[in-house]
Amino acid sequence: MNTPLPAVLCFDVEDLVSPESDDAALWMARMLTEHGLTGSFMIVGEKARLWERRGRRDVIEAMKRHHLGYHSTWHSVHPTTTEHCVDKDFAAGIDALWEWDREGWQDTERILGRPLIGWARTGSSWAPSIQGLMGRLGRAYAYSPVRLPQTNVCWYGGCLGFYLDGVGGFDDTFVDDALFAKRLAEAQQGVAERVHTPRHGAHWTSVFMCHPTRAIHTAFWDAMNFLDGANPPRRDWKPAPLQPAAKMPTIQANFRRLCAWLRDERQLEIVGWGELVRRYDGQRPEVTHAELLAAARRIADERRVLFTDHFTAAELLLMLCRAATAPAERYPRPSVLGPLARPPRSPERTWAAADLGVAAQRITADAARSGYLPASVAIAGDTVGIGTVFVALAQIVLGAATAGGPAEAYYPSEAEEVARDPEKGIPQWPIHPAGMDLTKILEQTRLQCWTLKPAWPREDLGL
Ligand SMILES: [Zn+2]
Repeated sequence: MNTPLPAVLCFDVEDLVSPESDDAALWMARMLTEHGLTGSFMIVGEKARLWERRGRRDVIEAMKRHHLGYHSTWHSVHPTTTEHCVDKDFAAGIDALWEWDREGWQDTERILGRPLIGWARTGSSWAPSIQGLMGRLGRAYAYSPVRLPQTNVCWYGGCLGFYLDGVGGFDDTFVDDALFAKRLAEAQQGVAERVHTPRHGAHWTSVFMCHPTRAIHTAFWDAMNFLDGANPPRRDWKPAPLQPAAKMPTIQANFRRLCAWLRDERQLEIVGWGELVRRYDGQRPEVTHAELLAAARRIADERRVLFTDHFTAAELLLMLCRAATAPAERYPRPSVLGPLARPPRSPERTWAAADLGVAAQRITADAARSGYLPASVAIAGDTVGIGTVFVALAQIVLGAATAGGPAEAYYPSEAEEVARDPEKGIPQWPIHPAGMDLTKILEQTRLQCWTLKPAWPREDLGL
């Protein structure tokens, strides 16, 4: 038999209108506990405040038996995550999001009485800055749109991100035995297939259990109120219609069936999200000079911005800067984010090793001061894009007396593929207004691919 797949049972707890949704979250959390299962509940901040205001200690205590993530303060109330960031660069987006969500985050940790593991994407509302914010707080991100071909847990924007990848879709099936049986069979089939998927690095399987509110209502709470950019005042919020009370035994019986399957499924290793974060949040602390030379050879051969199994392109660049100016046996892994603007097109020429060395020192100082790579650097009177410098420095480290690079080298080639997911997903969320201009967010998404690399289990890193 294959090694079981690490799997997280995810719930999004978010209805800010219907008090009945509090009870749904409660009995689901309890039923999981009865089955010896650990769930991971992604909780909207204002929802936690409502529990406190309504005196729902029972719900809060039931939640605390599981793993707890954040699901934004207001979820679908505008402005959403994307709307906050749509006209900002990565750094300004982080500041805007924290300004908006800091209080909710702090209230939720206080009310629930424990640190939140990270942030789970609300609908398909996303910007690279939300992962940057979690990275800054030392937290993880769930339902990330960023993945690599064989790795669905990746470093991006300084944050450990878990790509939304797995089985689920139970929301509106609990109410109907036949529908539920069909969906359960599909999930079981999905797990059986995933066991044989080739992988490289860290991986997880998300079992998206449900939105508790959607199991007992016939529609989404937010679709009732916030569709297509609508933002009515709170007094006008309407609850979604409830399923008939007579259906409750069916809903609960099917949820129990889901729990029973998961308890008995030997192909899954069910863990809390926080447990997987601890398993995967290690990184190689340093690179040896020999390893850096091997990376430099690849860069010089391929003449493009690239990352390796253990180091992002941004990390490689700063380590190349060190190796070009002060070679040593090993270099510590630096902490640095991608450029905030698209690098300019570079002149097609070469520069002397000494001039590139001066540029390397300038880049190192700039990154240390700001935390970001500069988009360009001046070399012997030329303005040179950072990707061009990346390729040129690799050659200098390998011993070249002069070196240049491709005129257009903006980010790793994976960036185009990474940006496709949010480009498609963000406009599909019915809460977002039609016609949002995503140009800036998508360019910032590509630029932060300077900080992309696979994650690894700590034991594979010898940590
Ligand atoms: Zn949600």
